[in-house]
This record gives sequence, structure tokens and C-alpha cells, in this order.
Amino acid sequence: MAENYLTKLDDALNWARKYSLFTYPFATACCAMEFMATMAPKHDIARFGAEFPRFSPRQADLLIIIGTITEKQAPALHRIWAQMAEPKYVMAFGVCASTGGFYQNYGTVPGCDQIIPVDVYVPGCPPRPEQVLDGLILVQKKITEGTTWVQRRDRGEKHGGEWVTPRPSENAEKKPGHLPVVS
Ligand code: SF4
Repeated sequence: MAENYLTKLDDALNWARKYSLFTYPFATACCAMEFMATMAPKHDIARFGAEFPRFSPRQADLLIIIGTITEKQAPALHRIWAQMAEPKYVMAFGVCASTGGFYQNYGTVPGCDQIIPVDVYVPGCPPRPEQVLDGLILVQKKITEGTTWVQRRDRGEKHGGEWVTPRPSENAEKKPGHLPVVS
């Protein structure tokens, strides 16, 4: 019986969380223009409860990675993710953030999921605002279902045959000077 009440409480919390997302835009390249268009009145991301970008990771729960990530930026990206409020979610915005895009070189990270766990990938170079909103709705759907990375980690679920813990931040501390990689 108590389990039923807790399940209902989780549902209510997740409903509130999905409509009050505070975004942290980690914008490094040209996709940032498309992010601005998504935030602007024509596409109006406020309709989805995600209109407040926060430039302190401690006040944000949705990290949107916008543009190319270089190897030198990777530790900063990981630190920002580690500092964010829990529960937190991650969206890769565009092909550069998702896969490294057309940058096949030693200086570019081939996808931000090499550094931190990603919940939703939005394709395109750059993606159109409608695609970004579609990705946001997908994040909200995953929050409702409890299938984002942090929600699964908190339940202690396995991911791809591996435990989702230890957290990448713990790996980072164990290997100073090395790029932390999500196992
Ligand atoms: S996906 Fe295209 S538009 Fe976006 S950062 Fe990469 S090159 Fe620029």
C-alpha cells in the first residue's frame, strides 16, 4: 500500500519536474544560433516550461550541449554536469554534439556521450527549432516514464549490461589528467 502512495508521489514530482526545466546551454559553435531561434517568440520554448536558461549549473537541471566539443573543453563540460542540480538531464543538440559531426580529427570529441551520459540526441546540422522542441518533448516523456539516465541510476538499474554507477565524476577524480569516460 505504502508503495502505491510512493509511486503516486513520484508521478506527481516527475510531472512537476518536466514542466519546470531550467536549461544550461553549453553553446560552443554555430548551433547556438538555432538555440536562440528556439528560445525566441516565434517558436516559444516557454510553451513547454523550459524558458529560463541558467548560467550557473547549480541552478539548472537540463544541460543542452550545443555545438562541437573539443578535447580541451571536455573536462569543463564534465565538471559542469557534475555540478548540476539533481535529478539532471542531458540533450545533445546537433550532429557535432551527438557524434563529433564532420570533424574527424584528434582535437574533437566524437560525441559528448564519451564524457557524460546523454538522454536525447537531436540530429541535424543545425537542427531546426521544431526538432529541438521535439527533443525537449522526448526528454519530458522520459522524465514521466522514469527512463532518463539519472532516474535509472538512482534505481540502481543496469544499463547495456553494465551498472550505471560508478558516476563519471568519481572516475574523473580517480584519474586526474585523463578524460573521464562513461563506462
Ligand atoms: S552541427 Fe552543424 S551547425 Fe551545429 S555546431 Fe556542428 S557544424 Fe555547426
